[in-house]
Amino acid sequence: MDSWTTRLLMVTRLLIFGCAVLLFSSISRASEPKRVIVLHSYGQNFKPWGEYAKALRQELEGRSQWALDVQDFSVITARSEDERAEVEFSNYLRALFSHQAPDLIVAFGAPAGAFVQRQRAQLFPNAPVVLSAIDERRVQDAALTKNDAVVAVRQDVPVLFGNILRLLPETKTIAVVIGNSPNERFWIAEMKRKLEPLSDRVQFLFLNDLSFEDVLKRAASLPPHSAIWWNQPQVDAVGAVHDGERALKELYAVADAPIFSYDDSFLRGEIVGGPMTSVADGARATANVALRILAGEIPGDIKTPVLQYGPPKYDWRQLQRWGISETLLPPGSQIYFRESTIWQKYGWQIALASLIILVQSALIGRLLFVQRQRQYAESQARQRTADLARANRFSMAGELTTLIAHEINQPLAAILTNAETLELVLRSSGPEMDEAREIVADIRRDNERASEVIRRLRSLLKKTPFELNSLNLNDIVREATEFLSALAAARGVTLTSLISPIALPIKGDKTQLQQVIVNLVTNAMDAMSDLPAGKRRLTISTRRADNLGEVSMADTGPGIPPEKAKDVFEPFFTTKPQGMGMGLSIARTIIEAHQGQILAESETTGGAVFRIRLPLVLSNSE
Ligand code: ADP
Repeated sequence: MDSWTTRLLMVTRLLIFGCAVLLFSSISRASEPKRVIVLHSYGQNFKPWGEYAKALRQELEGRSQWALDVQDFSVITARSEDERAEVEFSNYLRALFSHQAPDLIVAFGAPAGAFVQRQRAQLFPNAPVVLSAIDERRVQDAALTKNDAVVAVRQDVPVLFGNILRLLPETKTIAVVIGNSPNERFWIAEMKRKLEPLSDRVQFLFLNDLSFEDVLKRAASLPPHSAIWWNQPQVDAVGAVHDGERALKELYAVADAPIFSYDDSFLRGEIVGGPMTSVADGARATANVALRILAGEIPGDIKTPVLQYGPPKYDWRQLQRWGISETLLPPGSQIYFRESTIWQKYGWQIALASLIILVQSALIGRLLFVQRQRQYAESQARQRTADLARANRFSMAGELTTLIAHEINQPLAAILTNAETLELVLRSSGPEMDEAREIVADIRRDNERASEVIRRLRSLLKKTPFELNSLNLNDIVREATEFLSALAAARGVTLTSLISPIALPIKGDKTQLQQVIVNLVTNAMDAMSDLPAGKRRLTISTRRADNLGEVSMADTGPGIPPEKAKDVFEPFFTTKPQGMGMGLSIARTIIEAHQGQILAESETTGGAVFRIRLPLVLSNSE
């Protein structure tokens, strides 16, 4: 191989090697994560900046096409502007990233922003920087390089405080709760300047020279018509730092005045609200810039307009608490935490429950209506039965007339005879007074007998409403039997009554029960009418059967065939030429109205037995 060929080969090898190295390094760089430094003002948890940093991280995680290595550092030195420490901190960062500068630095808040701008020349001058969550007044424009981008906000002090006076025009005092760090002192001066025009209307109390403990005491004793401006005192007058949410919660617990603030990271239940900067908007705008820078754009070329307040935001609960009408809010305001009404919360459950109640009510209404109709029908039926029973009694009365005439005639004839005898006795010269007295006693007795017959007849025929009274079943049977004994004699029937010696207490309607007995007795007499006189026998007996009182009437008539035992109680069932067929049907209705039972059987010896069973009213011991 000649020397030319050897050289050519070497050059080719070198070229291939060089290309391979380049290719390899670019592949390895592309797969490396992008390193992002996040610089926090004072500490990671200081509001509002900490909230912006968290939101940015979420935005980047969701939207970045590269793997990211986000590293957080807190610019603690800014709490006191300790320059020596600041330089050491800057050196520390440089040392950490000495082998390779970060791909992006994001500084949140003015204190972190100021640190970056001061250290820019030493701190990775070629690394891109984004200053975020910073008021435009806090950016040192002259110190910005082509590697710096800014996502600034504008806090408009007159607008912020004007909101308080719009909602609460009576306000006389506004206590400004703010710390005393260098950054905060900037804002105190700025606020005092901007609020000067309002000073004749409102007294502003800047509480920056108090410890937070004293701030709380002061807030607890503000005069009427006061409001509080919350500018989270990050480092208070005694150097205590207040990050997170505790300080605001403590203030809220003691303060008797509405609290206002400037960023929606504070809108968590303590502040009333108004125009304010938005964490979500700020984080989104910062993420947009960060991603463009990571994609290769020159930071200085990315111009983001200063973020303005969006629509004012209010906490409904605080509006309620301080009696602020929604009509006072600027148009387009957004109201948060509105407590939904019971309807909004449980709308469908209430609707369902109402529907169920409605359906139930309708059903209950219907049931009550049906019940009332039934009761009415029952009372009508009872009335009809009573009327029918009375009609039936009158029909029986015809039959009884002969008997009654006979019954009454007897005492009347006796009275007449006695009266004539008395007349004779009185006419005689020496009246026998003892005899006369006896005759008068006889007259009275006969007279009472006649009256009794009439009374019983009347009681049987009288129209009375159905009425339950405490009765002894034995008494009813006894009375009815006495009444019927004359009829039995007239019709040649031997009437025997076997009354139980045990009382049979029941609840019943005397007239109706007696009617049933009279009915059964007359039926029995009818049934025996074909028998020779000596064979007509009717036995009425009472007894106690468990909890029932029973009356049975056994005759010696033809009896009732078993298949007819039920039919005889049906209305209009009769085997008599002149019969109505209503007697037993009415009897059954009456007995059933007494919760009792009426049965018809035939004796084995022939003849019919009718049994009435009524529930006894027993005391517990019986
Ligand atoms: P009525 O007496 O008008 O016929 P009831 O309803 O009182 O109406 O009686 C119905 C029928 O029952 C009678 O016609 C008779 O056939 C039968 N009956 C009632 N009591 C007896 C009895 N003790 N022995 C035989 N049959 C009887």
